[in-house]
Amino acid sequence: MDQYIKTGLADVPDERGYFGEFGGRFVPETLVPALDELVAAYHDAISDPAFHAELAELQRTYVGRPTPVTYARRLSEQLGGAQIYLKREDLAHTGAHKINNALGQALLARRMGKKRVVAETGAGQHGVASATVSALLGLDCHVYMGSVDIARQEPNVFRMKLLGAEVIPVESGTKTLKDAINEALRDWVTNVRTTFYLLGSALGPHPYPMIVRDFQSVIGHEARTQMLEMTGRLPDVCIACVGGGSNAIGLFHAFRDDDVEFIGVEAGGYGIASGQHAARFADPAIGRPGVLQGTRSYVLQSPHGQILNTHSISAGLDYASVGPEHAYLREIERAFYTYATDEEALAALQILSRTEGIIPALESAHGLAEAIKRAPSMPRDTIMLVNLSGRGDKDLNTVMSALEID
Ligand SMILES: *Cc1c(COP(=O)(O)O)cnc(C)c1O
Repeated sequence: MDQYIKTGLADVPDERGYFGEFGGRFVPETLVPALDELVAAYHDAISDPAFHAELAELQRTYVGRPTPVTYARRLSEQLGGAQIYLKREDLAHTGAHKINNALGQALLARRMGKKRVVAETGAGQHGVASATVSALLGLDCHVYMGSVDIARQEPNVFRMKLLGAEVIPVESGTKTLKDAINEALRDWVTNVRTTFYLLGSALGPHPYPMIVRDFQSVIGHEARTQMLEMTGRLPDVCIACVGGGSNAIGLFHAFRDDDVEFIGVEAGGYGIASGQHAARFADPAIGRPGVLQGTRSYVLQSPHGQILNTHSISAGLDYASVGPEHAYLREIERAFYTYATDEEALAALQILSRTEGIIPALESAHGLAEAIKRAPSMPRDTIMLVNLSGRGDKDLNTVMSALEID
């Protein structure tokens, strides 16, 4: 049996879904039975060897796991300090880590007898992953997406449609991810008996942050083994970008009990002083504990608690809140959080492209930017493992216009 899902052994969340003072369940009454049903189904699934066997088989033969770890030799030499290794989630089917979670949750939906799936998407990456696994398992997939995002992310909208999903435009609020989540939740409340809500990051009401973490933790468990094989020891530092926080928690979780430093990198946008960013942990004046979309975590908000608009060059990091487990890891000082600006991420994307022949997603480039900042002043025997959460193909238009290439 696959050994990476071991929720019973993790100390968080508690029974009520709390990571310290973060997490929990802030939802309408009508959803409580559905969330309880999900908790029960999840525990049932992870104690069933047949569930693990099917998940492992599809990870291997469909997703393309294990994804490799690449030693970034030329990049490390150029920086002249720490050795940088990359966990290659860009090589997973559909080009990012999101498929890990989507596959796990879709198997859970089928097991629960739910044939209808709803999902939210911002940039369209989670929508594509949900549409993909729905096609694979014969589920009926409906993706809520803000109309502004639909206009910005045309290729992903077309992908979802080709994969047989229905894309439902959301016209409320700012017509972006936050509003799409609201609509997906509303749909779930209405159709809860037949419908599974396939949530895309380590966010939302309990048990989602736990389930998403567990399905993503395949990243860290593979990487831990691979680093031991390649270098004979564990890395000193693990670095990942943090939007909702699923790729980061998926990497960190396996190293939880090890002497390994964790660094999460948020979107610094145009800089913290500009107020146009999505760095929930960077400015205590606006990034404060609060409740958004079912969970208590750090939220970018006005003094009166109005959710602030965010900005990032990478759509996947552009969200006002962050997964509750990250708020907790920060509080207990197990993990540290910093940010990279749009400009730094763009520079990191170009550096990796030219030194290693890998074009990373703009999200992943934020994590890389921090590694590039730190490496030169670190001893040469320091090992940094960076999670390359996705590939850059989806970002080519954004990068081209930012660099004014034509
Ligand atoms: C969605 C996305 C992210 C951000 O989501 P997390 O839940 O924070 O991992 C990061 N990288 C890529 C490539 C994405 O598609």
